[in-house]
Amino acid sequence: MSVYHDEVEIEDFEYDEETETYYYPCPCGDRFAITREDLENGEEVATCPSCSLIVKVIYDKEEFMCGETIEAPAKSETKLELAQR
Ligand SMILES: [Zn+2]
Repeated sequence: MSVYHDEVEIEDFEYDEETETYYYPCPCGDRFAITREDLENGEEVATCPSCSLIVKVIYDKEEFMCGETIEAPAKSETKLELAQR
């Protein structure tokens, strides 16, 4: 059974665009890391390369998995058009 050192919201991670990886400071002096691809795959454990600690990442999975979907705005536009008639 996994024991998380902490639970951290994705907003508190620092994003590196070059490596597409989210980082969060680890008490050992290194940083926990989780890639954007991991998040898209539903992964929620960030690991530290220098020690055995892990943290659970709190994030909205749907936001990462369905990033391309723009259905909602299109629907509201249709509603507006109808309302104007
Ligand atoms: Zn560490």
